[in-house]
Amino acid sequence: MGKIILTGDRPTGRLHVGHYVGSLRRRVELQNSGEYDEIYIMIADAQALTDNADNPAKIRNNILEVALDYLACGLDPEKSNLFIQSQIPQLCELSFYYMNLVTVSRLQRNPTVKAEIQLRNFETSIPVGFFTYPISQAADITAFQATTVPVGEDQLPMLEQTKEIVRKFNAVYGETLVEPDVLLPDSEICRRLPGTDGKAKMSKSLGNCIYLSEEPQEIRKKIMSMFTDPGHLKITDPGKIEGNTVFAYLDAFCRPQHFQQYLPEYANLEELKAHYQRGGLGDVKVKKFLNAIIQEELEPIRARRKAYEQNLDYVYEVLREGSRRAKEKAQETLEKVRASMRIDYFADRALIREYQNRS
Ligand code: ATP
Ligand code: MG
Repeated sequence: MGKIILTGDRPTGRLHVGHYVGSLRRRVELQNSGEYDEIYIMIADAQALTDNADNPAKIRNNILEVALDYLACGLDPEKSNLFIQSQIPQLCELSFYYMNLVTVSRLQRNPTVKAEIQLRNFETSIPVGFFTYPISQAADITAFQATTVPVGEDQLPMLEQTKEIVRKFNAVYGETLVEPDVLLPDSEICRRLPGTDGKAKMSKSLGNCIYLSEEPQEIRKKIMSMFTDPGHLKITDPGKIEGNTVFAYLDAFCRPQHFQQYLPEYANLEELKAHYQRGGLGDVKVKKFLNAIIQEELEPIRARRKAYEQNLDYVYEVLREGSRRAKEKAQETLEKVRASMRIDYFADRALIREYQNRS
């Protein structure tokens, strides 16, 4: 069995640094490792419509934005298939069969669904499509026979749900689907990067993001007004690291060489943190350091993005070709699924043969 990656993002906005540390950076490394036989990166427009049905223009407008972010980060269409979910109708059919293998109460217990229902104030009016999106996510993953799914922590309950569906399907219809492994970032902070407002998760829907394509002045403004320790009023006050977003971002982005380059009076992040906790280190100095690091990381991404913006025909073709290949793969899986479920009625005149054998 080959090693296959499937992962993706909802086109609900441009991609942000949470996506970058949570999944995007890792995808590019995995892609370039040469260890994977096939890589599928999905722009999940159909999933995004489950909670944006009344605003299809938003989803449509963000498809190229996300594709540009992908290419800017180093996803390479020669190695990874970049595709659009809604262009693969096989995914709907798979979802339809998987729906029979999941109970309503199991979906209601899914922690991510619960949290997102609350976030969107859906309590009394949950769209059915939104409620069942963990099932469609199982279809996305299994359609490509993915062995590896690199995602942020909020996706863990989705992967659990997918594994349950795979086990159930294989138990009922015979060994057909591949059970995927989730790949979380090694560092805990990268699994769920907080928002610039200190909220638990940077999220397009919450508007607390630093976008990958953001201009330098904007990034600086966001970093300088970022949430720190509200008790750290004077420079001499001892400060808290816990819950301090600036230090959370340093954990995600800072490497030892950044100190030699931008803050040589400290050897490493531990020393900087210790000074902050002792008192005597101001927020502004730490924020300026963070700003220098993030600017350095995002500068080449922004430059590459601008170059691709000049060549949208190319980006469009990448998506078209990626979608074509993704569709082929999904069709292959769908045929296996139909055969296992014995709903491949017109293959080899099976229905007639079996009828005759019975009588
Ligand atoms: P939305 O608000 O529309 O749900 P989002 O910002 O949560 O958007 P998604 O497209 O849902 O982004 O997530 C795409 C991928 O990025 C998933 O693998 C998810 O786990 C990861 N991800 C999203 N936000 C973060 C974050 N703040 N930290 C780490 N990973 C993240
Ligand atoms: Mg999300």
